[in-house]
Amino acid sequence: AKEAGRARMTLYDPAMDADREERNALELDLRVAIESGDLTLAYQPLIDASTHEMNGVEALVRWNRPGHGPVSPEVFIPIAETSGLIEALGLFVLRKACETAKQWPELRVAVNVSPGQFRNPAFTDYVRYVLKQTEIEAQRVTLEITEGYMIQNPQRTRQSIERLKTLGVKIALDDFGSGFSSIGYLRQFGFDRIKIDRSLVEGVTESDSQREMLQATVALARSLDIPVTAEGIETEEQALAVRLFGCDCLQGYFFSKPVPADRITEMLEARRAL
Ligand code: C2E
Ligand code: CA
Ligand code: CA
Ligand code: CA
Repeated sequence: AKEAGRARMTLYDPAMDADREERNALELDLRVAIESGDLTLAYQPLIDASTHEMNGVEALVRWNRPGHGPVSPEVFIPIAETSGLIEALGLFVLRKACETAKQWPELRVAVNVSPGQFRNPAFTDYVRYVLKQTEIEAQRVTLEITEGYMIQNPQRTRQSIERLKTLGVKIALDDFGSGFSSIGYLRQFGFDRIKIDRSLVEGVTESDSQREMLQATVALARSLDIPVTAEGIETEEQALAVRLFGCDCLQGYFFSKPVPADRITEMLEARRAL
């Protein structure tokens, strides 16, 4: 009887209708937000592991949904992906980040690129267009991509990365260690940097096995002779550990949460005044 009940549930479930309605409403609001420029960017400092100075920022999109408050990008990016909004959203983020970072000549700027953008054959063209329009030095721009799409389309991924690199931008592999990539396989893509996923950093001071796991993952990334960033650093112990393991760049709440652009400008001004 229980099984039958469950089977019927999958045929009609009013809660699913409510979910769908909420999703549609969210999608509509997101469309409006993109069109009317209501998305903003926060910037999280990237810290040089040896000097402990900020040498870059990662741009992270923010949406304050009217009547609801802030919505996490982990919620609305996947919706943008499946509803055809990711292109407009991605273009906004890239342009805004480059425009803003133009005033921070001492910093590099990392921008997240989702599979839906990366898959678009015109992506390289629009990166070229934004670089030209904003007049930012291409070497200061890093595009961060995750491994999900690469595994499905290794050939096309390699070609896209090659094309993008001819523009002068850098390419980083984001969230390394959260999936299942084999390192030999990653070698072919020519990444300029690898970012170790927060989930590996989290438990590093809790158990030896988690510490070993992190150390092994960093060592694996470094075996490609690529610089490695550790993200999600929340404590001094974590910062010390990842530095010891060989990460040259650190990112996390321990140093700074993502902040508005003005805050970054203030930090740079304070530093220049020293
Ligand atoms: P991500 O690229 O891995 O970005 C890092 C996330 O970790 C950010 O969450 C950041 O606020 C958070 N974080 C940084 N330091 C710490 C820390 O010490 N502790 C903890 N607990 N969290 C930390 P956020 O901004 O909510 O973004 C979540 C994800 O959404 C990003 O993960 C990225 O995959 C995606 N995303 C954000 N902005 C964009 C964007 O502009 N375009 C695209 N395509 N995706 C974006
Ligand atoms: Ca990222
Ligand atoms: Ca990441
Ligand atoms: Ca992530």
